[in-house]
Amino acid sequence: IVRYRKVSKSFGENQVLKEVDFDLMPGERVAIIGPSGSGKTTLARLLMTLEKPTSGTIEVDGRQLWHKEVKGKLVEANEKHLHEVRGDIGMVFQHFNLFPHMTILRNLTEAPVKVLGLSKEEARERAMGMLEKVGLTDKAKAYPANLSGGQQQRVAIARALVMRPKVMLFDEPTSALDPETVGEVLDVIKEIAAEGEMAMMLITHEMSFARDVSDRVAFFDEGCIQEQGPPSKLFVQPESERLQSFLSRFN
Ligand code: ATP
Repeated sequence: IVRYRKVSKSFGENQVLKEVDFDLMPGERVAIIGPSGSGKTTLARLLMTLEKPTSGTIEVDGRQLWHKEVKGKLVEANEKHLHEVRGDIGMVFQHFNLFPHMTILRNLTEAPVKVLGLSKEEARERAMGMLEKVGLTDKAKAYPANLSGGQQQRVAIARALVMRPKVMLFDEPTSALDPETVGEVLDVIKEIAAEGEMAMMLITHEMSFARDVSDRVAFFDEGCIQEQGPPSKLFVQPESERLQSFLSRFN
């Protein structure tokens, strides 16, 4: 469903991604681990079209992000095309960015009404279903400021899910949270993962979470994937010295 091919990204002299090849299959859950500054967030930002690759291509469900086929030729994509491709991806970042002046329910119904064209009633129904999934139906009428960080992040997850994306992208969803609320957010993500419908790309520093939730773990270091495999292999018998040394920090 997602395919990176020879994707490089530089910021000035600093080459952050080096010819990355990465595939995410439909329904697959991949955890991306690796040291700070190795380029994981940049990988995610490229998928969200928040950054443009210096070279290489990224496809989502068969459509290229920055190019569009017109009469058999690839041309530069317009904003409409980008918008459509982005619609397939739900994202949850470190900072939840809920709309502070809207109730929780309104935070969830805004995009389905405006972007998907659902009626208010349909959007409401869908939103309440998602709030139930993340255990927050009782907060529908509250405002973000009245929720804990963990609860806000659960709302952010529900808000991404109401759009029914094909891929969910999580970039360190718990790293800005108080330690006591980390668990509840990870549990919600695990539940969604267990349903197994959506492809998920999870960038995380939580190793036990990565192990529990993923079908595959990719170790990212110095701008490319150094090693990948099922968690039972990667965490138990890491091959490269770099991965061994990275993992030893968590023991
Ligand atoms: P962390 O785990 O700390 O979030 P990361 O693996 O996600 O790290 P990135 O955030 O992708 O790493 O950053 C990789 C490198 O790219 C860093 O050296 C960072 O300084 C650089 N970088 C990222 N975004 C920009 C930008 N917009 N302009 C210039 N340099 C950037």
